[in-house]
Amino acid sequence: MFCVDVAINLPVKSLFKQFTYSVPETMGFLDSGWRVVVPFGVQKTEGFVVRRREMPENTAQLKAVEAVLGDRPWFDAEMLATAKWLAEYYMCSLAEAMRLFVPGKTSIRRQAVKDGDGRLLYYRYEERLKAKNVLAYRINAAGRELLAAGSGKRALQRQLEALKVFAEAATWLSLQEAAERSLSSSTVRTLLKKGLLDESKKRVLRNSYTGELRCVTQMQLTEEQEVALAQIRAALEKSAGGTFLLQGITGSGKTEIYLRAAQQVLQQGKQVLVLVPEIALTAQLVKRFQTWFGDEVAVAHSKLSQNERGDVWYKMRTEQARVLIGVRSAVFAPFAKLGLVIIDEEHESSYKQEERPNYHARNVALQRCRNTGAVLILGSATPDVETYQKACTGEYTHLRLTKRANGSELPKVEIVDMRQELQQRNFSVLSRKLKQALVNTAADGEQAIVLLNRRGFSTFVMCRDCGASIVCPHCSVAMVYHSSNEDMRCHYCGNTMPIPTECPSCHSRRIKFFGTGTQKAEQEIMAQPEVRVLRMDQDSTVAKFAHADILSRFAKGEYNVLIGTQMVAKGHDIPNVTLVGVLSADSMLNLPDFRASERTFSLLTQAAGRAGRGSRQGHVIFQAYDADNQIIHLAARQDYEAFAARELADRKELFYPPFAQLLKLTVWDEKEEAALTLAQRTANYLQSLQLQGKLEEDVLILGPFPALVAKVRDLYRFNILVKAKNLQPVKDALLNSEFKELRNLYFDVDPLSVI
Ligand code: ADP
Ligand code: ZN
Ligand code: ZN
Repeated sequence: MFCVDVAINLPVKSLFKQFTYSVPETMGFLDSGWRVVVPFGVQKTEGFVVRRREMPENTAQLKAVEAVLGDRPWFDAEMLATAKWLAEYYMCSLAEAMRLFVPGKTSIRRQAVKDGDGRLLYYRYEERLKAKNVLAYRINAAGRELLAAGSGKRALQRQLEALKVFAEAATWLSLQEAAERSLSSSTVRTLLKKGLLDESKKRVLRNSYTGELRCVTQMQLTEEQEVALAQIRAALEKSAGGTFLLQGITGSGKTEIYLRAAQQVLQQGKQVLVLVPEIALTAQLVKRFQTWFGDEVAVAHSKLSQNERGDVWYKMRTEQARVLIGVRSAVFAPFAKLGLVIIDEEHESSYKQEERPNYHARNVALQRCRNTGAVLILGSATPDVETYQKACTGEYTHLRLTKRANGSELPKVEIVDMRQELQQRNFSVLSRKLKQALVNTAADGEQAIVLLNRRGFSTFVMCRDCGASIVCPHCSVAMVYHSSNEDMRCHYCGNTMPIPTECPSCHSRRIKFFGTGTQKAEQEIMAQPEVRVLRMDQDSTVAKFAHADILSRFAKGEYNVLIGTQMVAKGHDIPNVTLVGVLSADSMLNLPDFRASERTFSLLTQAAGRAGRGSRQGHVIFQAYDADNQIIHLAARQDYEAFAARELADRKELFYPPFAQLLKLTVWDEKEEAALTLAQRTANYLQSLQLQGKLEEDVLILGPFPALVAKVRDLYRFNILVKAKNLQPVKDALLNSEFKELRNLYFDVDPLSVI
């Protein structure tokens, strides 16, 4: 007799502890990693077995495990270890960490079973994700006999040939697989009827990858590429892990290296995970992987249904696919044999989950690689300076690609001072230089991209008389004008309002639109001769895969200018683009956040990298009001090393990552007073620990201070920031206190922003 400790899969923050259940005799195989259904309170719910142990003495009140989900443990030892690490590192419960590994976060569905009169009889719990079973066929003894005997009869000749195909396959073939071998379903059915084949519901595992390339023109790698690839190959051969920073300028051929490394891993019979920041923007990357590896490639993105995601996960677990390309959450897929993880654009902020648990996919990947011995490749033109630092100190192997692979030159970048434009009475959002360049580009039959740096490019609704802007009643931010529906929208809570006819503060009727949104910039650009503009922003990309559609329409040349926010700057390679313009290149720099410079530098560099990827040199124009700003000049020179040196020096002086670890605590409440009181109590608790000498001396406890957007959806928010060389004692103290279970206190370990 034994019992199991179970983490209850309920999204309740206070469920930190595990519960013990007895195990019925029929479930003697139960061990850690299985998903089960257990009674919990008045309901039944999903749980994860985290330990199997001897039955304790006092067993009278133990409830029993009700049912087992699936035909094998969902968590293998490696996944379990990663989940445990995640819970500790990111300060969440084990169940919260474990449910990240389950597609849709829960694997059971409750169904009410009613009698004929509609009265509730009981609830049935069933597995929500069902794997599709395929009927498959295999030659049997009678079939073999007939095949061996042969036959003179003409009519039987075709059937014999079909049987031969089955004999050669020597395994179960689904109808589809039979069709791939030119056997029609009616042929299969005839053989089945004659008793020459066996039929089974068994799942069909595909033949292993042969290492053949499919219609790929093998290009000669550049010397830099060869050098980088050789080091990765050596690590893969040893199968002893290793982390690489592949730092290569845009267009330097990083993807070619990913493909070749992946190929080697497949030849070793192992699997590859490729993480991308946003699937819609990476259609080109997916296509390249599919060209190389065909249907070994599975894709997981946020728009898959839960069942589809379940199937993708199942494919990885059962090795029916061996390359998974996906966004952040794909880092939790169950791999049978993980050999390599590639994180493309590793500096992107979308790898961090901005809700509980606030994990960073790069950190999780690092952990999984450590636990499995897989190799990790972090690729970027502008690495996160924290990653860069680790590469410089030798913790990661630093690989560099400094030249564009196809020999094209980096673009020429100019900075235009918008204050001077104003002085010359040019009130347009377009400088005269950019306007002219757009017209010239269109006239030459080439294409341009115009990036609006989002902040500062929303159109606010303001009163001319008192200067008040219209603020969302639920959030402390200005409402943004949208011309598509002639209304105002809150970008934090989605609330919409008609445009008021008079000012809510002073009742003046002189309401004005202030600022330039994408839509207004679009109109100004459209007014230029020969210019056909396509817009890509949140409004135009609500539909599924709208990004990819817009990009492919642009790539086809139907339009000559693509205008939009951040998303136009990333991940695509359109050779005919020779001009890139950035409006308000400096607008993000004024944010009071320690990553503002890094974000600006990387966005500008990425944007500039879109120009001149074909045979003609690109031209880039950065428009800025603060045209002397050093960051903008470094981005114009595409000088990452100089930027990183400067940024790391600043971070060191100001005690920010990678020199300090950060923990952000956010407290919220409907009442401002209550939020502040709790925030103060939390800060006081930490301070008292420090006074008692329980925290190290260099720990800094800052705040509470109101969040930059102090109110969102009617909740007031206050932040406390903890900085430390080593956060562990702070985490331990909080996890051993009443604070860990408070509903309206939120821990963000390694926050992306501190505001
Ligand atoms: P990155 O991922 O670094 O932006 P890519 O791998 O997409 O770069 O390569 C950029 C372009 O250069 C692509 O069109 C690619 O086909 C081409 N390319 C890559 N490596 C080579 C090479 N060794 N020789 C010629 N062209 C190359
Ligand atoms: Zn007013
Ligand atoms: Zn709002």
